[in-house]
Amino acid sequence: MRGGSARGAPREAAGPNLRVVLGDQCSDTLSALDGLGPDDVVLMAEVRAECTYVRHHKQKIALVLSAMRHFAARLRQRGVTVDYVTLDDPANTHTLAGEVARAAGRHRAACILCTHPGEWRVLQDMRGWGEATGLPVEIREDRRFVCTLDRFRAWAGTRKQLRMEFFYREMRRATGLLMEAPDQPVGGQWNFDQDNRERLAKGVVPPAPLRFPPDAETQAVMALVAREFPDHFGTLDAFGWPVTAEDAAAALEDFVAHRLPDFGTYQDAMAEGEPTLFHALIAAALNVGILDPRDACAAAERAWRAGEAPLNAVEGFIRQILGWREYVRGVYWLRMPEYRATNALEARRRLPWFYWSGETEMACLRAAITQTRDLAYAHHIQRLMVTGNFALLAGLDPAEVNEWYMVVYADAYEWVELPNTHGMALHADGGVMASKPYAASGAYINRMSDHCRGCAFDVKAATGARACPFNFLYWDFVARHAERLGKNPRMAMPLRTLARMDPQKVRAMRDQARSFLDALETGAAPAGQGRLL
Ligand code: FAD
Ligand code: SF4
Repeated sequence: MRGGSARGAPREAAGPNLRVVLGDQCSDTLSALDGLGPDDVVLMAEVRAECTYVRHHKQKIALVLSAMRHFAARLRQRGVTVDYVTLDDPANTHTLAGEVARAAGRHRAACILCTHPGEWRVLQDMRGWGEATGLPVEIREDRRFVCTLDRFRAWAGTRKQLRMEFFYREMRRATGLLMEAPDQPVGGQWNFDQDNRERLAKGVVPPAPLRFPPDAETQAVMALVAREFPDHFGTLDAFGWPVTAEDAAAALEDFVAHRLPDFGTYQDAMAEGEPTLFHALIAAALNVGILDPRDACAAAERAWRAGEAPLNAVEGFIRQILGWREYVRGVYWLRMPEYRATNALEARRRLPWFYWSGETEMACLRAAITQTRDLAYAHHIQRLMVTGNFALLAGLDPAEVNEWYMVVYADAYEWVELPNTHGMALHADGGVMASKPYAASGAYINRMSDHCRGCAFDVKAATGARACPFNFLYWDFVARHAERLGKNPRMAMPLRTLARMDPQKVRAMRDQARSFLDALETGAAPAGQGRLL
């Protein structure tokens, strides 16, 4: 793929190729580094604009900057010339375009080589580099994904509806992962999700994931982040993310050995005081580029073939990476930039302040938000069925909710955050990502967790002072969108149940929902202000 062509005066002499490596491209196999010549220069720049276009969690910024510094050192060890611009360099222009232009001049570069970025806004920026520098810009494919964007486009082009399950099967066929023969999945079925819905059994103690104590470089970055971004959301104290390819490989190995066997069974479970359960905690490493998704899938498959992990766990894990992760990226690039602007359910309510402070009596939300503040992490069901579900039921503005999800997680990048939040959690895309809204009452949270036991609200009550807000909000949501949802066969059951309910009860629930939502408004957070507790 070729970017902006040279304009303005041509350069006098052919200098080195300037190879630009972005913060989430810390990968040995990066296409921008293909054919690296002895005179070439790799540019890596820590720029403020990337740290602040949303006010990322402090751990996310520290993770990216530390991964960049370690990757630069790794390249230098290979003999590569790296021009590294630090955040506190007084000459730093603090934009990517500014640093690319400065470096192009400094090195009298002949051309700019880079890899397709993860985010749409960065691609727009990259497309301007040619004009700004007068140099040819080559934007190469990001091969760190299994499915190319062209292949996804071709797959999507043949379908009325984009369903992850069918895409996933195609990826299984293409890679041969967990396949017996070309069209024969191992175990006789593609998907073992029905085995993966257990609540955490009594006496089961999830093994703590491997954490990585910050080395001197990471400590220096943490001090920089604390100094430069003091009012960004979250705390740095518990920082333990992998920041090198070796750390990431160790994190994967630890997961496969100790948590993968129960990953499937407890994938949807939530538990008070257990922020990570049997999850892998590898999304941050995958997304920053220090772990390859193919390696993660291959390690899980090996464990199954060696009899060390059951098929429901291994298939579930591979589906998340080979299926969901690739699929959401495909949807993002297929639908952007219009995707972000949709608001199919016309949700306009402001984000309540407790999304930043964690100060709420709703125990499930409190647990998800406070662990997010401390760890920059919550697992999928907390993101989807607690914070996401509440935002959906309460009709929170998708733009504000998307911004929150972009701010709060160490693994947040728009290509993966947006389809998950805007599409899967909020149904704001009108059903591109999910065939029905992931709306649920308190009964779901009670079934999958122990949060309700210690909650100020009664999960069995749908009206009255102690009624669980998820209950009256759920029925208010179904009633509010009855006409729209009536066209969706997958919503027939809740709509039938609503129609059979005592109208007085429905009215009472809807009245309570209205007062609850009105009260939320007064505690709404100022737009875009991620704050510490
Ligand atoms: P595990 O549960 O152990 O899963 C293994 C891996 O599968 C993950 O590391 C991830 O790479 C992949 N994966 C699982 N589910 C998904 C999914 N739905 N989409 C893409 N990849 C998936 N993931 C991000 O990487 N960044 C985000 O910003 C992000 N935002 C999300 C927002 C919402 C509202 C929701 C519902 C999900 C979001 N996810 C996001 C997906 C998922 O929740 C995280 O990838 C996962 O929780 C990361 O933790 P883990 O590594 O322990 O994952
Ligand atoms: Fe959450 Fe309702 Fe359970 Fe409280 S009772 S933890 S608000 S689901």
